[in-house]
Amino acid sequence: MIKSEHWIGHAPVGLMAIHNNHHVVEINDMLLNLLGYQRNELIGQSINSLFTRSGKLFFLTHVFPLLQHHGNVEEMYLRLRDKKGDEVPVLMNATAVETDGSLVYMFAMMPIQRRFIFEDQLLSARKEAEQAFAAEREATDALELAQADLEAKQEQLLALNEQLQRLATTDEMTQLDNRRSFEASLEKHLALVKRNASTGGLLLLDVDHFKAINDSHGHSKGDEVLRSIGKLLRGLTRDIDTAARVGGEEFAVIMPNVGSEGAFTAAERIRHSVQAHTFKHGQVTVSIGVTMLKEGDDRERILSRVDRALYQAKHNGRNRIEYA
Ligand code: GH3
Ligand code: MG
Ligand code: MG
Repeated sequence: MIKSEHWIGHAPVGLMAIHNNHHVVEINDMLLNLLGYQRNELIGQSINSLFTRSGKLFFLTHVFPLLQHHGNVEEMYLRLRDKKGDEVPVLMNATAVETDGSLVYMFAMMPIQRRFIFEDQLLSARKEAEQAFAAEREATDALELAQADLEAKQEQLLALNEQLQRLATTDEMTQLDNRRSFEASLEKHLALVKRNASTGGLLLLDVDHFKAINDSHGHSKGDEVLRSIGKLLRGLTRDIDTAARVGGEEFAVIMPNVGSEGAFTAAERIRHSVQAHTFKHGQVTVSIGVTMLKEGDDRERILSRVDRALYQAKHNGRNRIEYA
């Protein structure tokens, strides 16, 4: 058998008994060690000096009155202070016991310092995780911004490319296709004809006596005539047609999927529309050469053929259409 004093003294829990006047009656070795005191330093002293300031307030206003009233308290968290002045957090159960006719209060105190440290570590780990998460979110946000910026720039670039493409293929004065675009279009349609995938007609227009218009009304009036003819051509051709300004006062129209009759009818409609149009300075007429896209054609051959037709129209008196 172990002596009960010994037994209680080394129990792995701090034990203490106090009187009603708060003076310490008994205290075990475990609690003395925890607080760094000698036994004789505490016996007969008030328990109040063992609390931190806030711990004391809590003990006096809450714990002790509860203990007196109920005879016991459980799982109270108290802040003790050791001899050096350091805080010692404990979890405490207490009960009132009658011994030899007088009342003492017995406290069992379990240090929870390690649990505190652990909780602290947990808290700072959580804070670190939150910070890392926030940093990650910031980085993601920045990335998204950069991506949006990139997309916007790509769109700008695309729009710019489209604009460049349009500029490169459009005649500035009339907004019709330019010569370069016309030639590309002609090549494309000749290739289709070669594969028997299409038929088509080609019209070449030249303004009659345009030099005289320039001479008597000024170059800018001449430009206006060219713009008006451009507008007429846009109105008189289909979406699949290619209407282009191919020289100073020369225009061309590629008409896919038409026979010679259709091409001629279209040419006549254009000739008549120009003649019927009221230009600011007076009347304007055009001569038109018409030819069909043929299987053996290359660009030069068809262009010289349509040129010949146009020359013929001029030669035969202008404001007319010739076929070659
Ligand atoms: P034809 O009936 O034989 O075609 O006579 P024309 O006077 O139209 O023929 P010509 O080729 O001798 O004259 C074409 C004129 O077109 C000469 C040139 O000064 C003028 N011209 C060429 N490009 C432009 C232009 O962009 N604007 C203006 N206003 N005139 C132009
Ligand atoms: Mg000309
Ligand atoms: Mg002319």
